[in-house]
Amino acid sequence: MTPVTRPVAKTDSPHVKVLLVEDEADLRDLVRFHLEREGFSVEAVGDGERGLELALSRSWSAVLLDVMLPGCDGLEICRRLRLDTRLKQVPVLFLTSRGQEKDIVGGLNLGADDYLVKPFSLKELTARLRAAIRRAGAPTHASGLNAGTIQLDPLRHEVLVAGEALSLTATEFRLLHHLMRHAGRAFTRDELKPCAIGEGVVVLDRNIDVHIGNLRKKLGDEAPRISTVRGVGYRFEGD
Ligand code: CA
Repeated sequence: MTPVTRPVAKTDSPHVKVLLVEDEADLRDLVRFHLEREGFSVEAVGDGERGLELALSRSWSAVLLDVMLPGCDGLEICRRLRLDTRLKQVPVLFLTSRGQEKDIVGGLNLGADDYLVKPFSLKELTARLRAAIRRAGAPTHASGLNAGTIQLDPLRHEVLVAGEALSLTATEFRLLHHLMRHAGRAFTRDELKPCAIGEGVVVLDRNIDVHIGNLRKKLGDEAPRISTVRGVGYRFEGD
């Protein structure tokens, strides 16, 4: 009998999306294969222009850039990312050849977070990548919201409680984001219904209650921050 192929265990959630721009096909495939096995979701391209287009079109958890690329070089892609107010926080790591140290100094001036000199170990790449993503998600993140041990990052669409990522539905995320942005203010269920759009035509009061209930469960120790306001609805208690 043919053995059944089992999916490899994922150590990171697949929502950690990495863009890889590298024109050496063998290296590109190797890095992609390794990162996917480590649980990252990877989009890999070999062309600089396509890389630039992709880099600017989505919110990536991190971008890995080769320096010398056909079309548009890695430094230019990094520069363009840093000019975009929505994307300038995205961690950028350069993959560079020996002898390109001069370019790397330029890259670091452009706001790259780190670089690796080829040939690098895949283990080291993964470690540096994780570190860069963690730093980007730190509480100092400009667009993020914090309360107690809750960190919400709208760009990365990620919520951490005491450093652990929560797996929230889109509605739960929007509810928490809305409540946290207006901490201290009570909202009626009607006012919260737009957070549940996309689920169906009609959103009922009790749907909101169910979402809030699930959200509280996932928030664990931080659950009491969402209080029920009798006769009104819900309120998030900030710090
Ligand atoms: Ca190259």
